[in-house]
Amino acid sequence: VVVLGIETSCDDTAAAVVRSDGEILSQVVSSQADLLAKYGGVAPKMAEEAHSQAIDRVVQEALDKAYMTEKDLTAVAVTIGPGLSLCLRVGVQKARRIAGRFSLPIIGIHHMEAHALVARLIEKDLQFPFTVLLISGGHNLLILARDLGQYIQLGTTIDDAIGEAYDKTAKWLGLDLRRSGGPAIEKLAMEGNAESVKFSIPMKQHKDCNFSYAGLKTQVRLAIESKKIDAKIPISSASEEDRMSRADIAASFQRTAVLHLEERCERAIQWALKMEPSIRHLVVSGGVASNQYVRARLDMVAKKNGLQLLCPPPRLCTDNGVMIAWTGIEHFRMGRYDPPPPAEEREDFVYDIRPRWPLGEEYAEGKSEAR
Ligand code: ATP
Ligand code: FE
Repeated sequence: VVVLGIETSCDDTAAAVVRSDGEILSQVVSSQADLLAKYGGVAPKMAEEAHSQAIDRVVQEALDKAYMTEKDLTAVAVTIGPGLSLCLRVGVQKARRIAGRFSLPIIGIHHMEAHALVARLIEKDLQFPFTVLLISGGHNLLILARDLGQYIQLGTTIDDAIGEAYDKTAKWLGLDLRRSGGPAIEKLAMEGNAESVKFSIPMKQHKDCNFSYAGLKTQVRLAIESKKIDAKIPISSASEEDRMSRADIAASFQRTAVLHLEERCERAIQWALKMEPSIRHLVVSGGVASNQYVRARLDMVAKKNGLQLLCPPPRLCTDNGVMIAWTGIEHFRMGRYDPPPPAEEREDFVYDIRPRWPLGEEYAEGKSEAR
């Protein structure tokens, strides 16, 4: 089985070709980082345009690098949600066009499920059930993965995700945003003292597995204002003293942001083990999981609770086509796919796109425990 995966849910246009034995035959990502830096965020209309411009080239490159044509494919997998509907459309349209023309089955993929399941491509020993922490720009999820397609949501964010807090902090500290904010903060934090600014850990009094990063963002913004840091002065031209005070804020922010993850993960593992005592792994994925400090701290949490930490390599933590293709393979093997679309789509055809699409059911007991 060979599957082409297409991903356009947010700001990266990505495609990959993956074989069912886990061999990655090719992967291509075209990022909109330049656009993001220029406008300081994702504007749906602009993102859609960038996807439209990149999609044909990205898919063609993925096929070329795999030394394949569409005829060699078994199926096409594409992200259908969650994400920006304008952006999702671009990928879905492309996938259906290929599937229609070459009569290939098509597999609609949940973006966050793909972030989680890519761990099974990396680690063949990873069996269900396992616990998952998904940390990215738009999501902060704790999941119990019981089986393929069977997920229980132990916790989510009540406002922002951790990646959003990294990105805003980076912006306010005047860091170079041509790459995303996360890696820039991770690097600067190494120079700073994580104890120097006292931020309080969010939601300490709520004994559940939910997250909140909006309050921490505000704390960081206030600290930056009180230290008179001017984001318009890029860090590369800041004085030594100014640079140090920015590094201290980066380090203190990162420490608090991750302490919040640690506390929630620990509780989620305990909840999950009550339901599924055979769990042996904590999977951490999504863009923020490429952070080495995050990995080291969560490794301790996993070990302390008798689990092994599994993080995909950074390239597979941030948005990519491999995870979509792999999740497609997982579903295809279980017979979950749609028949090939007609070669010529009717003009009024309504795509199955799910901009808001929860992953699994909410954990009810956890809810009552929390309130
Ligand atoms: P979604 O939330 O829909 O999964 P996304 O657009 O956030 O998608 P990802 O590529 O999964 O896409 O995650 C990007 C996020 O990860 C950004 O917020 C970025 O700052 C963050 N990130 C990437 N690398 C690091 C890092 N080394 N440290 C901290 N954060 C990072
Ligand atoms: Fe993502």
